[in-house]
Amino acid sequence: EEAILEILTAALDRGWTNLKLYFMVGLPGETMDDVHSIIGLVTKIRHLGQKFRLQISTSTFIPKPHTPCQWLAQETEEQLLPKYDILKQGLRRERVRFSWSDPKISQIEAALSRGDRRLGKVIYHAWQLGCKFDAWSEHFNYQRWLDSFKQYELDPSFYANRERDLDEILPWDHIDVGVTPEFLKREYHNLWQEKETPDCHHGKCNGCGLQRWQPICQDKYKMREAFPP
Ligand code: SF4
Repeated sequence: EEAILEILTAALDRGWTNLKLYFMVGLPGETMDDVHSIIGLVTKIRHLGQKFRLQISTSTFIPKPHTPCQWLAQETEEQLLPKYDILKQGLRRERVRFSWSDPKISQIEAALSRGDRRLGKVIYHAWQLGCKFDAWSEHFNYQRWLDSFKQYELDPSFYANRERDLDEILPWDHIDVGVTPEFLKREYHNLWQEKETPDCHHGKCNGCGLQRWQPICQDKYKMREAFPP
């Protein structure tokens, strides 16, 4: 928070008059206090001066494949809406513009991100029903997507809002992106223990798996093997 305020102060001193900040809602372990702290930070930023406008954009966390969050459930609309209500209420301030992502769009996005091959038919059917330019909220039609999932006896919440067991076989497990599932599982546990993994650009190799492909990593990895953490 201090670093953000320091950077924004420097930007304002240099004459910037429009500031835009992005926040993510629905992160693992997030509490209502965390949501309130967004309002607290924005309030502090507003007090940095009078001559600038603030744009606050929030988006919903989407647990993506090939990340340590790939096993997590996305928060449901029922969990997300009270958070967005708090933000809408708390950020209705002079010189502040607030935008947020519709949890329904985020759910479909999460379902498509983590879907299996059955979703090919769902997407095709949704397109036939007229789903196009869905990233533009005025074109997004949730019911059409639900109908398309239903057509194939599927449900977006199965893909988006379901926590996976760490042993579950995932639709993308056969794709090797370099980072190993073992590393992702280690990071998954670190996430819950709030243990930070140091940036390997500036420190030791974390053994993410890329040492199998990247010559530049191999020397660092050898050091790791010689001096394990
Ligand atoms: S140095 Fe290479 S192998 Fe080691 S953690 Fe970084 S990217 Fe992964």
